[in-house]
Amino acid sequence: MALKNEYLKGLLERVKQRNRAEDEFIQAVTEVLESLEPVAEKRPDYIESGVFERLVEPERVIIFRVPWMDDKGVTQVNRGFRVQYNSAIGPYKGGCRFHPSVYLGIIKFLGFEQIFKNSLTTLPMGGGKGGADFDPKGKSDAEVMRFCQSFITELGRHIGGNLDVPAGDIGVGAREIGYMFGQYKRIANEFVGVLTGKGIPYGGSLARTEATGYGLCYFTEEMLKANGSSFKGKTVVVSGSGNVAVYATKKATELGAKVIALSDSNGYIYDPEGVDLELVRQLKEVERKRIKEYVTSRPRATYTEGCSGIWTLKCDIALPSATQNEIDKASAEALAKNGCIAVAEGANMPSTPEAIEVYFKNKILYGPAKAANAGGVTVSGLEMSQNSMRYGWSFEEVDGKLQDIMKQIFAACDKAAKEYGLEGNYMAGANIAGFLKVAEAMKAQGCV
Ligand code: NDP
Repeated sequence: MALKNEYLKGLLERVKQRNRAEDEFIQAVTEVLESLEPVAEKRPDYIESGVFERLVEPERVIIFRVPWMDDKGVTQVNRGFRVQYNSAIGPYKGGCRFHPSVYLGIIKFLGFEQIFKNSLTTLPMGGGKGGADFDPKGKSDAEVMRFCQSFITELGRHIGGNLDVPAGDIGVGAREIGYMFGQYKRIANEFVGVLTGKGIPYGGSLARTEATGYGLCYFTEEMLKANGSSFKGKTVVVSGSGNVAVYATKKATELGAKVIALSDSNGYIYDPEGVDLELVRQLKEVERKRIKEYVTSRPRATYTEGCSGIWTLKCDIALPSATQNEIDKASAEALAKNGCIAVAEGANMPSTPEAIEVYFKNKILYGPAKAANAGGVTVSGLEMSQNSMRYGWSFEEVDGKLQDIMKQIFAACDKAAKEYGLEGNYMAGANIAGFLKVAEAMKAQGCV
């Protein structure tokens, strides 16, 4: 869908000029500006007060050297990033990604998306994201620890409980957060909730580990319910086998579905009987092995090299939970051909714009990442609240709040889509609902 509004067209051109070679960032901004076109038409005051202009430019970008010593005593150098994107409604909040593909364009796209996602959660959190082009795979625990300590030694001077609160993402789980928290505490000489996703004994929230995957299923169930369906009796394909994928599989199964496939960056497994989640957790979380090892213990399952083939498996519901742009046009067409009724995104921006067009053309229900995977940052926000109160809620309390918020997020997307004449377009609904709150705050705070 090409932009028609002259102002937004010009703005997108300026974004492209100013951020050349940052393809993922330009993709994310394009999608949001296209969705916001009806808002720009209805609310010229947002144009006049420079809201759109300021929204596409991060408040601050920090890029830094991360030197560390490997087990052989050789110095290695990675590049660290933190994009403090928008603090209109609260302190910057968003995860850190450690993956060799990380560069500025990825962190900026993630930080930009985070603004709207955090707004949708109803909690007071601004948007930010960080990471490094470090690959934890194949590194010893000691190497990961030295890397994390070096990373946070620099990043630590730019964050704080009321300023910027990072968390995990791809390649950053409980182990990495623990190492970073320990080093931060030592340097800052204070025990504050400066990171979320912490271990339970030192200020973490119950249900944070499960939150993104569970939240994805709560959102999807609402979306299905609103369209006369549910998870019950459905066949589901989940990509990835990390934090989001594992807990999406668990909750989808609890809600009565059968998950038949999971993947990693090398390939995917297909288990027609339904995946054995305990086996996956043992392989991935405990032994840190590849997903292909699954078939050694489950001979009825098959392993296929390469990732995209997973979308050719016949399923009712697809939950992409690995990485950006993992579903292209051909994969979306394969899902449509096989009768898939819903795609809900656990990963950030896993569908290309062409794939999204295929969903709409085939009336596949589409739950966009910034709404569907907001459960993680929701519970991170609840972890911040518990840290501030010096108090901890039970698993059931946190899970209950998560369920309520995911329902509210779906309702907000649905309502905004209807209000702007785009009923059933939850992507537009999420962008509009997330934007309106941030826009009001930015306008009220003046030209800053
Ligand atoms: P993990 O590191 O726990 O797992 C990532 C999974 O995706 C692994 O199975 C990994 O395989 C696979 N993967 C990573 N990169 C690629 C790639 N280029 N191609 C194919 N597969 C890949 O990360 P999370 O589960 O935390 O994150 C998954 C997605 O969910 C990301 O997009 C993240 O931004 C998003 N997300 C995560 C949240 C959270 O709370 N953790 C919150 C909201 C969104 P391999 O092991 O081979 O690398």
